[in-house]
Amino acid sequence: MARYIGPVCRQCRREATKLYLKGERCHTEKCAIEKRNFPPGQHGKDRKPKIMGYGLQLREKQKTRRIYGLGERQFRNLFEKSARMQGITGENLLSLLERRVDNVIYRMGFGTSRSQSRQLVRHGHILVNGRKVNIPSYVVDNNDTVEVCDKSKKNPTILAARDATAHQPTPNWLDVDRDALRARVIALPKRDELVQIQINEQQIVELYSK
Ligand code: SF4
Repeated sequence: MARYIGPVCRQCRREATKLYLKGERCHTEKCAIEKRNFPPGQHGKDRKPKIMGYGLQLREKQKTRRIYGLGERQFRNLFEKSARMQGITGENLLSLLERRVDNVIYRMGFGTSRSQSRQLVRHGHILVNGRKVNIPSYVVDNNDTVEVCDKSKKNPTILAARDATAHQPTPNWLDVDRDALRARVIALPKRDELVQIQINEQQIVELYSK
């Protein structure tokens, strides 16, 4: 899968909002949105784009895709899966995104960003229900247990992330044991619990329904 490897702060500036892609730096005054909140590029400062209709829908989709670090194809496939599920498509989509195991590690506070959490999954540090899972797109379910494997419990990156995120609240749908580096999924995430970043999922549904 093609992966974006350019400057990540540029993505936040394009969406004119913090997407929290860089871990601790996002909470400091070094954040590019704090210093240069205008679109990237030579004429970014001069342009005052009026975004409406299709443009709004596109920006909402791009923003959501970037927050969770998915490629276009992957995001589209997830949307189609959410449309086949029972319930409201937009909410299904957000639930599937939230339940990706890389996002769960991020929500548990054992990675300071989703990309760092994805790396931990890829490198085989994570177990789901006692079995190694190294696919970041793996979707956890109710009652699943997600934990750092025994041999990685002293991993300095994970311990540093846990300390750095100690101030962050954990979502209600996860029962996190920070000392044991483990969490249990005690419910499926509800729409109103996804408060960190404002997403209008209806715009995405309308974009893909054209
Ligand atoms: Fe960069 Fe994080 Fe600020 Fe986005 S929120 S501009 S990724 S520092």
